[in-house]
Amino acid sequence: MIVVMKPKAPRAQVDAVVARFEEFGVAVHLSEGAERTIVGAVGDLRRMEPDDLQAMAGVERVIRVLHPFKLASLDFHPRPTVVRAGRATFGGGDVTVVAGACAVEKADTYLAAAEAVKAAGAHMLRGGAFKPRTSPYAFQGLGRAGLAILEEARKQTGLPFVTEVLSIEDIESVAASADMLQIGARNAQNFPLLRAAGRSGRPVMLKRGMSQTIEEWLMAADYILSEGNPDVVLCERGIRTFETMTRNTFDVGAIALVRELCHLPVIADPSHASGRASLVPALAVAAVAAGADGLMIEVHTCPERALCDGGQSLTPEGFEAAMGRIRAVSRARVYGRGVGEVAGG
Ligand code: PEP
Ligand code: MN
Repeated sequence: MIVVMKPKAPRAQVDAVVARFEEFGVAVHLSEGAERTIVGAVGDLRRMEPDDLQAMAGVERVIRVLHPFKLASLDFHPRPTVVRAGRATFGGGDVTVVAGACAVEKADTYLAAAEAVKAAGAHMLRGGAFKPRTSPYAFQGLGRAGLAILEEARKQTGLPFVTEVLSIEDIESVAASADMLQIGARNAQNFPLLRAAGRSGRPVMLKRGMSQTIEEWLMAADYILSEGNPDVVLCERGIRTFETMTRNTFDVGAIALVRELCHLPVIADPSHASGRASLVPALAVAAVAAGADGLMIEVHTCPERALCDGGQSLTPEGFEAAMGRIRAVSRARVYGRGVGEVAGG
């Protein structure tokens, strides 16, 4: 951390800043120029609030050198992390595709979608049993009955599944059922829920909050990691901007940057990032070209009758066509990846 003192700040003010750093047990270096003094501190100062220093007399500017996230940082863990959820692997080199309906609505339609995405090469199923809906009047999901349908789909297809958990009291039952917990965009800064997911014993897919900076997203990951759960997969799902013609703005740069900063696998959700089925294949291939470790795509057997997110859901045929494009891009092996085949059928 570097503190730039105001011009001609008296010695007592510089000494007070030095003393504040010394409370944290870090090494302090002074650089005294003709006009002003710069105080540099070397050591782990993540527990220190830069605002506290900024409030001290004689301080002009405080510059953080280290990222405030730690456990998610590549500095802390220089090798990429591989996360396993059932038979699915994230970060192992190939592109892992998660697919299925936005919400679990009925056993027969969910199972049909699950069979279809498996046939097209998906590695994992998705489907919400507990749905975070903007409107309290909209379909809220089947809850535990939805988990039973997901379990049946896993049995029939052999594919593991990820499903969202909305509240701490549901973590135990969702963790007992699912192969991976999803923390959605709306809960990306629900810190008690993040901590509880960190204690769940299950891998966690952490969506980026819709107004969350990349730094805040990685700090949210640190909440899960700090509870001793190393299995976190990040999911870029678009952020809110001034644009209204897409549901969100897909931040493809975030994928490339997360790969530079962080050892955790990062996947993309082109369905929520665009809100339009027609755009999903383009965003999916862009994500893979940018280095995504996987994709999560919404698929419904009859999107026009979907109870949630029909407009952004691909039909099984559309998903199969999208998988063709995803394979073509991944075959270019921009990042040394292919689309992994499902082991053992
Ligand atoms: C979802 O994946 O079903 C979902 C609700 O996504 P998000 O949290 O990204 O909006
Ligand atoms: Mn959805």
